[in-house]
Amino acid sequence: MTTEIADRLQQINTRIQQACARSQRSADSVKLLLATKTVPADRIKTALETGHTLIAENKVQELKEKYDALKAVPHENHFIGHLQTNKIKDLLKHDVTCLQSLDRPDLAEKLHQRLQLEGKKMTVLIQVNTSGEESKFGIAPEGALQLAEQVSRLDTLQIKGLMTIGLLSAETEKVRQCFRLLRFLQQQIIAAAIPGVAMDELSMGMSGDMETAIEEGATIVRVGTAVFGQRPTPDSYYWNESVNVR
Ligand SMILES: *Cc1c(COP(=O)(O)O)cnc(C)c1O
Repeated sequence: MTTEIADRLQQINTRIQQACARSQRSADSVKLLLATKTVPADRIKTALETGHTLIAENKVQELKEKYDALKAVPHENHFIGHLQTNKIKDLLKHDVTCLQSLDRPDLAEKLHQRLQLEGKKMTVLIQVNTSGEESKFGIAPEGALQLAEQVSRLDTLQIKGLMTIGLLSAETEKVRQCFRLLRFLQQQIIAAAIPGVAMDELSMGMSGDMETAIEEGATIVRVGTAVFGQRPTPDSYYWNESVNVR
């Protein structure tokens, strides 16, 4: 198991390096984040022990379940799933350094209130639905700038960039349009020069489309399947609103 995961991580790092080289970017301009939904803690631990450090869950429940088992291994936790406001308190108990899936004003507001109460701050990315698919979370592209302005007024939340899930399609050019749109929004928000808003990070690209994302400027690629293998649960369980509301 150890060598399998280590081998796959190495393959992914090679893919990242090659995509960076093709697009005249330095290899260290792209961070690899491991998407660990459904992956048992021991397999995640194996990945962390290769020296990899950045991981992310989609559900607070899974974050909680694996927390103790992973505590002893140095790593950084992001959160990339749809966050219900009643899970905020729990999220904050588990050392998440960045919420990549901030996608609506009421979530920002509630998160801010809780962070204030606890005297904490948090880094966030704004998640944009660039594919227009209804099953995807994220603010509509037209609303991204306004959400950035709203969030910038909440001093516990530090915006560092944008996140998106590209269209799940074999047609590379259609997928590329999603990533281009995210980059366009990044430029739009930079041009608005909102005090306190940084736009350093573009979190985009997964196992199937990370090369395209890197060509379009990704600084974080989020990879699950290519490291840990196929998941037992369909992704609709994580991405579809009607299923998530339970
Ligand atoms: C599962 C997931 C990923 C990783 O997807 P793979 O196709 O398994 O690489 C990336 N981002 C988010 C938000 C996810 O939920």
